[in-house]
Amino acid sequence: MVRLILFGPPGSGKGTQATALAVNLQVPHISTGELLRDAVANHTTLGNQAQSYLDQGELVPDDVVIGMIRERLSQDDAQSGWLMDGFPRNIPQAHALDQLLTEIDQAYEHVINLQVSDDVLVERMLARGRKDDTEQVIRRRFQVYQEQTAPLIQFYCDRNCLVNINGAGAMDTVTASIQAVISPNS
Ligand code: ADP
Repeated sequence: MVRLILFGPPGSGKGTQATALAVNLQVPHISTGELLRDAVANHTTLGNQAQSYLDQGELVPDDVVIGMIRERLSQDDAQSGWLMDGFPRNIPQAHALDQLLTEIDQAYEHVINLQVSDDVLVERMLARGRKDDTEQVIRRRFQVYQEQTAPLIQFYCDRNCLVNINGAGAMDTVTASIQAVISPNS
């Protein structure tokens, strides 16, 4: 059973790695960014509420994303493992996740912090050209990461479950490094 939280700065490759690992490990990839972008594309009430936050590189309000995760974790396919990508993204979300997992009698085994230099991050984001990958929005997302998400490194370090992985290498190399953390003897 794999329950893994992947985090790192915007552009660090969390989504790419989570997609590859989810296939290899046969567990769902739960990405708050993707869930939010789908909601925006489908013009749901939640999507309409979230759109301006995404467009500006701001965090969507905690109650919205926590509600989304609560619902996603209650689905059948999430009962035998998951890979979380983009959540939690601040300390209140991390506390909410701990509380939620206690309620449903689950726990995460690993928290992976993907480390990538700023130059590589900007290069990758400008190359992928998502709607929120303009220079101004990227700058704001970095700022939000530094202020709100980076403190999670200490939070998970204190819980002895943080593993730093060099995310700068080739995609397959990074996937292999993460897989070595999950199943060190295979
Ligand atoms: P990246 O990490 O590369 O910026 P994501 O797909 O993870 O890409 O996130 C894109 C956007 O979705 C964020 O800038 C933010 O607006 C929103 N978002 C994603 N996850 C969360 C979350 N856990 N809490 C609040 N907002 C979120």
